[in-house]
Amino acid sequence: MTRKSKMSKNNELNATHLYNKDDELEVVIDALGSEGEGIAHIDGYALFIKDAVIGDKVLVKIMKTKKNYGFARLINIIEPSKDRVEPRCPIARQCGGCQIQHYAYDAQLAYKQNKVTECFKRIGHFGDEIDTMMEPIIGMEDPYYYRNKAQFPVGKNKEGEIVTGFYASRTHSIIDTSHCYIQAEVNEELLNIVKDFMKEEEIPPYDEENHTGLVRHILTRVGFVTGEIMVCIVINGSKLPSHEKLVDRLTQVKGMTSITINVNKEKSNVILGQKVKTLWGQGYITDYIGDIKYQISPLSFYQVNPVQTKRLYETALEYADLSGNEIVWDLYCGIGTISLFLAQKAKQVYGVEIIPQAIEDAKKNAEINNIENAEFFVGAAEYLMPEKYEESEGQMSADVVVVDPPRKGCEEALLETIVKMNPNKVVYVSCDPATLARDCRYLCDNGFELKRIRAVDQFGHTGHVEAVVGLQRKDT
Ligand code: SAH
Repeated sequence: MTRKSKMSKNNELNATHLYNKDDELEVVIDALGSEGEGIAHIDGYALFIKDAVIGDKVLVKIMKTKKNYGFARLINIIEPSKDRVEPRCPIARQCGGCQIQHYAYDAQLAYKQNKVTECFKRIGHFGDEIDTMMEPIIGMEDPYYYRNKAQFPVGKNKEGEIVTGFYASRTHSIIDTSHCYIQAEVNEELLNIVKDFMKEEEIPPYDEENHTGLVRHILTRVGFVTGEIMVCIVINGSKLPSHEKLVDRLTQVKGMTSITINVNKEKSNVILGQKVKTLWGQGYITDYIGDIKYQISPLSFYQVNPVQTKRLYETALEYADLSGNEIVWDLYCGIGTISLFLAQKAKQVYGVEIIPQAIEDAKKNAEINNIENAEFFVGAAEYLMPEKYEESEGQMSADVVVVDPPRKGCEEALLETIVKMNPNKVVYVSCDPATLARDCRYLCDNGFELKRIRAVDQFGHTGHVEAVVGLQRKDT
């Protein structure tokens, strides 16, 4: 029997002997979980308690027990942590958007940095060298009103009135609110215009259960530098009745640039459909990160925190350490944001992205910035890269490979191809430290070594953290 399984056997005994559903007990929170939930460890048993933070002494009620861990509900704070603060948002606790607004911002940053370190040790099996390698997390000066993109669900409350806002934590019931402390402030005005329009024109909101009704979501994007605003109404149909009236009102808002509808008739949780129709103005907005101007359409991915994104890309650029002669591949490139940022300092950049509209934006973005040394390809990186490598008969190489995958990280087929391409450096930008640590382990087992790591807070008050890692080929 391995050490690990002996441990869980013990914990199992602890668990069944110690706790039952509805038991009430006092615990002290000693850690935060991956979603920002409090954890109290008692004799090796982990109890997860939402809305509690490290240092809180709390009374909790057991909800559910498993072998090595359980879930409990916070009943009462007996002694608050020194880092507990009053959240600015009155609905912070109910809303699923923020998880740790009640935790002092400095403590949030320390938690996030530690989360990255722990993932590298626990999942990546790296040693204590991580502690010294980890550069201080880059926090925000003002962690409020920082998001440039919002997706508000639209529905009905019990009284049958139209509501918009955010989903309550872990549910699909909508908390009716138009003011959000982490979104662009103009959203309140935009939401109220759409809501009033729907009421007056008796346009039914979408009903998830019965797949009836029309308006599903209101998507907004704001260019923080340009002030340009996009509103996209996601509908379960092809037409928005009396849309001229809505356009009339929305165009009164300063900065309005693009009003579109997105057609999504699917019975699914996916927010956006594939088809976008422009009702007024352009089908996109523009914004800047540093000196580079970006065109952003509703379907394209664009980082949600523009101020921190600039810092994130600057860190990636620093880690890439370009001299001007390099061939760079930017995989999962979205609308070419990192690619164009790096193209200024490289000989040639190639970007790869799965969403065709994003690649259209990327090409356009290269053009409007007069960048001629960037080329873009549509495809899944894990298929496209191995294929291209095969076609080149092993000749395709790179000096630097940048990856910025979604949370699930890179497929092994892609990592294998990156290793074969034999770059001097890999710069890994990630929004999930667990898959980041897993993939870095693969690269370090296959000829690379970790050089630098830095977390960047892109998502204040939530449990999420972004990180950048610089890896170097061992024989360089
Ligand atoms: N680097 C960009 C985008 C990062 S988000 C930026 O900073 O803005 C991750 C991107 O990966 C998204 O644009 C998503 O559409 C894309 N993507 C998801 N799966 C992919 C895959 N298998 N192959 C290539 N791109 C993918």
